[in-house]
Amino acid sequence: MEITEVRVKLVSNGDERLKAFCSMTLDNEFVIRDIKVIEGTNGHFVAMPSRKLTDHCENCGSKNHLRAKFCNNCGKKLPEGRVKEDNKGRMKLHADIAHPINAECRRRIQETVISAFEKEMEKSKQEDYKPPEEISESDEDVPEVVS
Ligand SMILES: [Zn+2]
Repeated sequence: MEITEVRVKLVSNGDERLKAFCSMTLDNEFVIRDIKVIEGTNGHFVAMPSRKLTDHCENCGSKNHLRAKFCNNCGKKLPEGRVKEDNKGRMKLHADIAHPINAECRRRIQETVISAFEKEMEKSKQEDYKPPEEISESDEDVPEVVS
């Protein structure tokens, strides 16, 4: 698998840890969007696209985000402690939609995306800089840190 293109849209406001939205093209024919560059304690890291985990209200059956305190649909107070912790004690609020399954591939994606991000940061310092338009900013929620 070859990463043939990375597009980077820098984020200058919103969550301060979220630095950019990216899309990545594999072998010139498959695109993964909603990849994020996030500022971590040990530098920038790449978060793969993820979805918020939800559960169902006991009263009406509606889906609610795990962090919700009240049901979005019926307003009933939701029980606390619904969030499970992973083996490192972090709250598990998101699940990856697409992700590498080995460390080598993760490293390759990380290096390629961060390098494209750094180039875009350099470009953005120029006066005639125009950010790419085709990347949508769908979800600014920052997932829990993945090592
Ligand atoms: Zn409900």
